[in-house]
Amino acid sequence: MPAAAARIPDAPAPHTDAVVVGAGMSGLYQLLRLRELGLRTRVFEAGDDVGGTWYWNRYPGARCDIESMTYSYSFSPALDQEWVWSERYATQPEILRYLRHVADRFGLRPHLTLGTRVTRAVYDERHRWWEVSTDTGERVTTRFLIMASGCSTVPKDPEVPGLDSFAGPVHHTARWPRTGADLDDRRVAVIGTGSSGVQCIPLIARRAAALTVFQRTPVYALPALNRPLSGPEVTARKAEYPAFRDAQRRSKGGSVLPMPTRSALEASAAERVERYEAAWSEGVLSALLRSYTDLLVDRAANETVAEFVRGKIRATVTDPATAELLSPRTYPFGTKRPCLDTGYYTTFNQPHVRLVDLRRTPLVEVTAKGLRTEEEEFPADVLVLATGFDAMTGALTGIDLVGRDGVTLRGKWARGPLTYLGLAAAGFPNLFTVTGPLSPSVLTNMAVSIEQHVEWITDCIRFLRDGGWTEIEATGAAERDWVRHAAEVADRTLYPAAESWYTGANVPGKARGFLAYTGGADVYRERCDAVARDGYSGFTLA
Ligand code: NAP
Repeated sequence: MPAAAARIPDAPAPHTDAVVVGAGMSGLYQLLRLRELGLRTRVFEAGDDVGGTWYWNRYPGARCDIESMTYSYSFSPALDQEWVWSERYATQPEILRYLRHVADRFGLRPHLTLGTRVTRAVYDERHRWWEVSTDTGERVTTRFLIMASGCSTVPKDPEVPGLDSFAGPVHHTARWPRTGADLDDRRVAVIGTGSSGVQCIPLIARRAAALTVFQRTPVYALPALNRPLSGPEVTARKAEYPAFRDAQRRSKGGSVLPMPTRSALEASAAERVERYEAAWSEGVLSALLRSYTDLLVDRAANETVAEFVRGKIRATVTDPATAELLSPRTYPFGTKRPCLDTGYYTTFNQPHVRLVDLRRTPLVEVTAKGLRTEEEEFPADVLVLATGFDAMTGALTGIDLVGRDGVTLRGKWARGPLTYLGLAAAGFPNLFTVTGPLSPSVLTNMAVSIEQHVEWITDCIRFLRDGGWTEIEATGAAERDWVRHAAEVADRTLYPAAESWYTGANVPGKARGFLAYTGGADVYRERCDAVARDGYSGFTLA
């Protein structure tokens, strides 16, 4: 086995070389890579199994909105050939089975500490190590601390008084009971109509006696056109996997899809409709956005596609008033993450389903018996919260990360995340954040962005070890430049025009700013590679 992380001469060694926080898709792959490097590595995971997002989000209808054969690890050609996805868009249980298989197949389980949450980590400048504390009372010192804690990990409740007084069960979609929820013939109230709401509402409607959906902002949803994958189709795709995986890595968004070459405003109205119809029938989340080059940068161009989707909603939802309520009008198409629809809009044609517009009549309180808006009381037996997450930064600021001079990451990021490449932060040596804020992450196929970060971090740690370095830290100047650059690139798009978890606007009091890098995964990868080629420019080494 190769040597472990570099040691400081005549100084005690830390308990371990690396601690990874989280055993989701990122944490598992990071563990695998660091083990290959010969590093003693421990992974702490709050859940009692691997899976991360796919462990926690067990609500009815939970499935990926990127195709299974695209949204999966690419690092192992053997794994690619062995694993057989059953549907075009995999369900949560199938993705969880896949991640459990990866943990077993690559012998990762001995290094996992499950059911254990990291609560605090303090950088010890003298020893150049992190002291990590857990909720089970463990304390571990480690040279490197890698946060693989996910982008959408910390569930957010609705800001409405009385939640605790509700007499029936309350289920957040991201904390769905493992044994399932009893919805049959119940009066169910759902708050929230983002991706989670759009996926669970049709399935809840099938079981509930009555369903009331409380909507604050409507979404744009495209048909998923999910279907089982046929044997010959899987075989054909597998034959192409090596080239396909390579192309994914070089692509702008982590999926191999045709990119537009023309402006929407240069096309005639009839041409546009033809093109949008073709995109609509693809059943791919990004298909409409990839119709023209300017849909995410020009309001007038964007309005052409937004109105196309509204037309589809009007054609599907029979009651015109309900169709109008479901039609987004306050933000450009694509600036909040669109959703894939499997029976969402048609659910509102059913007589036992009612849509309540919280913009017109805001929620006042939750009572023992249901929900009360400014106008009406809505009795309910079960309350479902599809209200999303303190995304992008919540998992990182939710634990006490204390860097140099006692500065906390929470304090440093109070006015928004300050990070170099979304990978590291000045004042926090030897700390890495997988798919951290201001990296492409959620704007791309996460599987590809996760692999890119894990491989970059692993190469960096190898470089440090081989060079005998014990400490790496982003410089304040590099961090400032990156934060400025990320904001400039985002401001060239329409993204900041929407209030959403992309901008922090969904959490009251959270600093506003676009939280992902909009410049493209291809450009970003090249930038990260250049930093490494230059001997880790923008970092100081000790
Ligand atoms: P979300 O997109 O943030 O949606 C939360 C919903 O709850 C929104 O409709 C929001 O309204 C509403 N809401 C929040 N607080 C509220 C309050 N106090 N009162 C009333 N309504 C309130 O969260 P999500 O649906 O869980 O999805 C988050 C992200 O996770 C997605 O965008 C996606 O990236 C990922 N995800 C992916 C999949 C998939 O792969 N298919 C599935 C689920 C989630 P406003 O819009 O007005 O804030």
